[in-house]
Amino acid sequence: MAERETIASTSPSQAAATRSKTRPRALISGAVAMAAILMFAAIGGEVIANIIAGTASERDPVLAVALILNIALILLGWRHHNEVTKQIQAHMDAAKRARLLAHKDPLTGFLNRRALASEGSEMMQRAQKRDRVVAMLVIDLDSFKYINDLNGHHVGDVLLREVGKRIMSALPGSALGARLGGDEFAAAFQFDPTNPAAVDAIADELVERISYPFEIGNQSIQTSASVGIARSDHDCNGIDTLLRRADIAMYAAKHQGKNRAVWFDGSMERMLEERNRIEEGLRKGIPAGQIQPYYEQQIDLLTGKLHGFEVLARWEHPEKGIILPDDFIPVAEECGLIADLSECVMRQAFIEARDWDQQLSLSVNISPAQLKDPWLAQKIIKLLTETNFPPNRLEIEITETALFDNLGIAQSIISSLKNQGIRVALDDFGTGYSSLAHLRALPFDRIKIDRSFVTSINDDNESAAIVDAITRLGSSLGLPVTAEGIENEQIEASLKNLGSMAGQGWYFGKPMAIGQTRRLLADKDMLTSRQKDEVAEEALDDLRKLRRTG
Ligand code: C2E
Ligand code: MG
Ligand code: MG
Repeated sequence: MAERETIASTSPSQAAATRSKTRPRALISGAVAMAAILMFAAIGGEVIANIIAGTASERDPVLAVALILNIALILLGWRHHNEVTKQIQAHMDAAKRARLLAHKDPLTGFLNRRALASEGSEMMQRAQKRDRVVAMLVIDLDSFKYINDLNGHHVGDVLLREVGKRIMSALPGSALGARLGGDEFAAAFQFDPTNPAAVDAIADELVERISYPFEIGNQSIQTSASVGIARSDHDCNGIDTLLRRADIAMYAAKHQGKNRAVWFDGSMERMLEERNRIEEGLRKGIPAGQIQPYYEQQIDLLTGKLHGFEVLARWEHPEKGIILPDDFIPVAEECGLIADLSECVMRQAFIEARDWDQQLSLSVNISPAQLKDPWLAQKIIKLLTETNFPPNRLEIEITETALFDNLGIAQSIISSLKNQGIRVALDDFGTGYSSLAHLRALPFDRIKIDRSFVTSINDDNESAAIVDAITRLGSSLGLPVTAEGIENEQIEASLKNLGSMAGQGWYFGKPMAIGQTRRLLADKDMLTSRQKDEVAEEALDDLRKLRRTG
């Protein structure tokens, strides 16, 4: 490591500068040693011969001293010359290694991003001359962070090297291989533009090879890769565009379910622009209070009684109207705005709901990205204190996918929340890994059956069997179950046949803004008298407005 640091801190230009300083010194010391040797040859022979023959003159003792000094000068000069030569060699070696490091990733020996850009650009020029095209593949591992967290960085490093080998084994001999950083690799090679199927075959082979287990130490580690492919023709004006397009396609591969290769197409770029617009809008919209909590009723199916609401975010966009969470939550997660967004939604909901009937609970969704924040539980508890909302009326909904990525932190967050009396539900159960290990490792208070099974319970035998199995699992673990996506009376009837559970869905009502929610609660007599007066006042206002416009 120390060596790596020294090498890394000696840039090629620094090494060249040192070399240009030491080289004249080496020449001078070499010249001094050479002059001393010549002097020795000139005077040494005469003096030594006189001493041996016993014909030493008066001047010879002086010459003998000069000779001794001369020998000392030769030895000193020579030693100095050797040292300087060694120094030059060391600097040259360091410069060579620095040059190598400037181009190569030290872990895998692959090119780094900068070197890929320059060598890829040359490859594009060569390809153009031969009427060929360059395919750029960006390859990203799908669960590397999880593997790293679970098995440690050493295993992660070995895995990256092995993945690198498998990538190279699937590529043509002349291909460039690069590691762009973390678990992201890239590869570039030429192909015949009329035969993109050849690229497909290589990319598919690569995805398949990476999906086989890796034997590291005595463990078998499974991963997969998402691959984005872009080609250097089709209006691609250089290596940067080519890499960016392959990168965009790689994200599309992830969105389409990972473990696959996807070609870039123009619509992806438009999607990216749209995503950037959403990000920009959120940056302004969150502080401006445009993200509002909507409330979806949760009903006890046995009694038909309202027992609470799921809080669902809606973006009340000044120009575009209401935007649904699937269109902005993933962007908020990607660009690090989800914590602010979530806090803003929760704060409004807590303030609004604290005076409702105390039997009514609120269920709030937490995204996978938030579960990476070790302070999440403390932030929620602080918010409850600030808004004076009782913790026992709050339920946090977490999806299985979120747990898969961050089991360790999730465990400590969940136990902190539960210590404060907050309940925790496992959301969208059945769509993720549906693992008993998760149910046992984490002390959930409820399972929510994903709506995809519930909506099709009467049309699809498999869905019906899954809903039945989850309901039985819940009752054997002593966990209450909520079915989401109850769209009609028939679905409700089928669920009631399976036993006691809670439910939500359009049959009971779509998520409502605060005004409508308050009116519903006023009808059910579940508001404080102050809130009831406010609702009556609003209703009068509406009536007046109607009269004016009518
Ligand atoms: P989810 O937590 O599973 O929420 C249930 C979704 O099902 C909601 O979609 C709801 O409107 C929809 N839904 C309810 N009943 C029915 C029905 O009968 N039929 C059909 N087809 N759909 C129904 P929505 O509001 O679009 O939310 C989608 C997802 O966005 C939520 O899924 C949740 O994961 C996420 N989400 C919503 N609000 C937030 C939030 O504030 N923070 C975070 N992190 N995620 C949120
Ligand atoms: Mg939910
Ligand atoms: Mg759900």
